[in-house]
This record gives sequence, C-alpha cells and structure tokens, in this order.
Amino acid sequence: MRVLLTGGYGFIGSAVVRHLIENTRHDVLNIDSLTYAASPDAVADVAADSRYGFRQCDICDTAAVGRILDAYRPDAVMHLAAESHVDRSIDSAGVFMRTNIMGTFSMLEAVRAYWRELPPARRAAFRFHHVSTDEVFGMLGPHDPPFTEATPYNPSSPYSASKAASDHLVRAWHHTYGLPAFITNTTNNYGIWHFPEKLVPLTIINALEGRTLPVYGAGDNVRDWLFVSDHAEALVRAVEHGRPGGTYAIGARQPRTNLEVVRAICAVLDRLRPDPAGPHARLIRHVPDRPGHDFRYEIDPTHAERALGWTARHDFESGLELTVRWYIDHAPWWRAIRARQQASLPMGRVA
Ligand code: NAD
Repeated sequence: MRVLLTGGYGFIGSAVVRHLIENTRHDVLNIDSLTYAASPDAVADVAADSRYGFRQCDICDTAAVGRILDAYRPDAVMHLAAESHVDRSIDSAGVFMRTNIMGTFSMLEAVRAYWRELPPARRAAFRFHHVSTDEVFGMLGPHDPPFTEATPYNPSSPYSASKAASDHLVRAWHHTYGLPAFITNTTNNYGIWHFPEKLVPLTIINALEGRTLPVYGAGDNVRDWLFVSDHAEALVRAVEHGRPGGTYAIGARQPRTNLEVVRAICAVLDRLRPDPAGPHARLIRHVPDRPGHDFRYEIDPTHAERALGWTARHDFESGLELTVRWYIDHAPWWRAIRARQQASLPMGRVA
C-alpha cells in the first residue's frame, strides 16, 4: 500500500511512520505543517528509507492536499493531524476548530475528489482512516461500564467537541458520498517522543529536574493507558483491515488514576535515578483542577481486538519503564523543547 499520513511529526503519527517503515512493506508519505508539536527528529531513524517521504502542508489547504494526492496516488489516507492538548483548547479554542474540524473537512473534500476518479478496483479498495479519541464519549462515573463503539457521543471540552465534530463529518462523507472511511477512537497514549506538556512526560522531566509534580485536584481522574507503539500497530492493522463505515474502540485495559500514574513514575525514577534529597514523590503537589475535567475514560476493546487481530503488548508498568528510560536517554531533545516553551506556556499545566 501507498499510505498518505497526516501529522507524521506528532507523537502518534511518528510512531505509525516508524512502524510502517520498520515492520511492513508499505510506503508512507507524511504531510505535516510543522506546528509547535512537530518533532522531525522522531522519524529521523527512518527518514532516509526510499519508502518514506515528507511534504510540508497545512491540511486546511484543500488545493495543496489535492495536488499531493494526485502526485502520490495513495491507496489509503491515515488522518492524524490535529491540535491535541486539552489545556490549550481551554485557553485558545479557535485553532482547534480550524485544524480539527475545518482541517478534517478539507481532507475529506480533497480525498473525495481524488478517490472518485480512481479506477473501480482501486476505488473499492481505498480507505480513509480517521484517528480519533475516546474523549468524544464524554466521561464515565466510577461504576459505569467502559466505552464501546455503541457509546453515544457526549464531548465536554473544546478539544473533544472538535474531535467529535470531525468524527461526524467522516461518517457523513461515508454515508452521503460512499467514501470508504472508518474511525478509530483510542484511549490516552504514553511513550517515547511524547511532547513534554502532557502528564507522563511532564512528570518524568519535572522529576528529573527536581521540580514540583503538579497533579490536578485529588488526582483521582482515571484514564486507560496505551503504549504508543501498541497504538501504532493497531492503527496499521486498522488501515489494512478496517471496514468502510466501521468504528474501532482501541484500548489497553490499563486504567490508572492520575495520582497512580505520577506515583508509578516516581517509583521507577527512585530505582533508575535515585535523588539524594529523597523519594521523588515528595515533589507531588495538588493544583486546582482543570475546568470541566472529565472524571474517567476507559475503553472495552473487545470488538477492535477481534476485528483487527490485535491486542496491546505492553501493560502500564512495562511500557512506563521503557518510557522513563527513554526520557533519561533523550534529555537534549526535551531540554531544547522546554527552552522554547518557557516563554509560551506556564510550567505545571498537565494533560
Ligand atoms: P500531536 O499534537 O503530538 O501531533 C499532531 C501533529 O499534527 C503535529 O506534528 C502537528 O505539526 C501536525 N499538525 C497540526 N495541525 C496541522 C495542520 N493544520 N496541518 C498539518 N499538520 C498539522 O498529536 P498526537 O498526540 O500524535 O495525536 C494524533 C492524533 O491522535 C490526533 O488526531 C489526536 O486527536 C488523536 N489521539 C491522540 C491521543 C493521545 O493520547 N495523544 C489519544 C487518542 C487519539
């Protein structure tokens, strides 16, 4: 397959690019506009491969995306480019509406124009894979059953509302125009090359630097944690086997409270990088909660596991150990980002 992938310099997109080049025979063309969240270094190990290419392009530029589609002639599009940080969506929602809603509309229109001109066999085999989040389902109470593909939409943050809108557009383009599109909705990811504004990398880095470890409220919000390379594998399975009109809810069955996550990171660091001043957990500080903070997300991945022949390889503890070791070994990468960020984002905001 020739895969055109959007957002391939991001946290998850770069994991998919690496997985496609290292573990499959597919070709991939990465299009990314290089926002603050882009890390070209994350694909440096595969960038010289003849099956990989890159074009700088804003997904909102329908004509430019159309020209790239006509030149590259992909068999599938994997759409990951988005604004992804909930705190930023609360501070400044406009760019989320532009990229996540209008950007997806732009991609659907460019892809529809390209797809409808394909020869019949290629048109039938073509796939548009929209990568989305479980946050579109809203929040669960402590005893609610986990989300499934049948859970109604009930988004509560500007970020999740913009992603929900984009999911609705994808379904409408499938239903109205027959575009062979499907959606994956996934839980919280963590792992290598994760931008240092999100909970896991922020906690690791702050702890390594002896800074305080901010935890929203009591820290009892629950997320289901999926290691990013496991997600990349699931997404590639989905683009290979996904059914037009389908939805796949992808999760790892690893629910943890935020406080459990932060304490687990402290415990790994106490082992790998003991601090003479005392256990890293002494740095934990509870900060005022995020407005509208959803209490719990958790996915029942049974349908996706069966349909895609996939299950997560890492439990939270093994994935976290790999992640912490990676951040210890890649300090120059995150130090450069932190230096750029100091001016723009107050430290201590967490995902
Ligand atoms: P990210 O913020 O790390 O990366 C996004 C990438 O998209 C960046 O490289 C950025 O430069 C690019 N981009 C942004 N706007 C663009 C535009 N207008 N045109 C072209 N490129 C643009 O995001 P991520 O965490 O890798 O998330 C990828 C996708 O997965 C998103 O759609 C997100 O909603 C979804 N998702 C993320 C998680 C998670 O835990 N991170 C969980 C479920 C779903």
